[in-house]
Amino acid sequence: MKKFMLGVAGAAALALTLGAGTHSAQAQQQNLLVGGGSVTGVYYQVALQVCNLVNKYASDKYNCVGRPALGSVFNINAVNRGLLDFGVAQSDRNWQAANGAADWKGKPVGKLRSVFSMHPEAVLLMTRADSGISSVSDLKGKRVNIGNPGSGQRGNAEDVLRIYGIDKDKDIDAEGLQQHDASRALIDRKIDAFFYTVGNPSAAITEPANSTKTDLIPINSQGIRDFIADKPYYVMTKIPAGTYKGIDHDTETYAVKATVVASSDASEQMVYDVVKLVFENLDELKQTHAAFRILTPKDMLEGLSAPLHPGAERYYKERGWL
Ligand code: GLU
Repeated sequence: MKKFMLGVAGAAALALTLGAGTHSAQAQQQNLLVGGGSVTGVYYQVALQVCNLVNKYASDKYNCVGRPALGSVFNINAVNRGLLDFGVAQSDRNWQAANGAADWKGKPVGKLRSVFSMHPEAVLLMTRADSGISSVSDLKGKRVNIGNPGSGQRGNAEDVLRIYGIDKDKDIDAEGLQQHDASRALIDRKIDAFFYTVGNPSAAITEPANSTKTDLIPINSQGIRDFIADKPYYVMTKIPAGTYKGIDHDTETYAVKATVVASSDASEQMVYDVVKLVFENLDELKQTHAAFRILTPKDMLEGLSAPLHPGAERYYKERGWL
């Protein structure tokens, strides 16, 4: 945990030193900083792989660094403050930030802009098979990681617990670990379950599934269906049996999309260049992680719940996609 915090502080320091989006003196390159999530999640892969494309095909103009970060809420706020050029964030958090809800109640992030969507992310509840938990209601009295402050999953965990009538402060022993620590803590029997909103497959889920007997718990009550019904950024989904070792049943839950976001302060040309590189090399990007294989341009323009950045809009119009 401490080590990771240093990593994040390092990322912030790097952003401050370089100045997100400034030009380095030696080469006429613009430094770009992209914020992801925990090292075992998929956001970090988005940040790394998008930067790999940028550095491979546009090193004359850009020097792109993908960093681990605290997740959706952190990334939106860091993009807003100019500490990151791009961040990865859940479509529900983007909607809340753009509209001044939840963590941003009364304080909408007016500069938040969508660039493109990536993979779908499912709200997962993972347990050890011996924990005696077979439904969300069984979490009462258990040690449950609900996600670190700054993560997207923390808000999803709070919603799910509330909808199932569980008070996170009284009914469970709630932890706020970052995901790489939470996966480890489940294996080490320090927690009984964790919530994580993530693309599949993810190392954060594979590691416990491969190390101990685990289970994924459905999140599909009528209360959940009613909750998502009027929210366009939520859909029901299924994690198919066999996605993770030893979990041989489909798991029904709900899902969001991971979205790459920027600030309206980011230059139109820079965002256009990055978007163009991503779509011109989409086949290459799709090969870099199993969660990216299903990406299509059509899907990547869906679920954008903050206004489009003008640089992205320019490229999509050129392609006739808007
Ligand atoms: N959905 C998580 C969040 O918003 C991150 C998942 C990941 O890193 O892949 O914080």
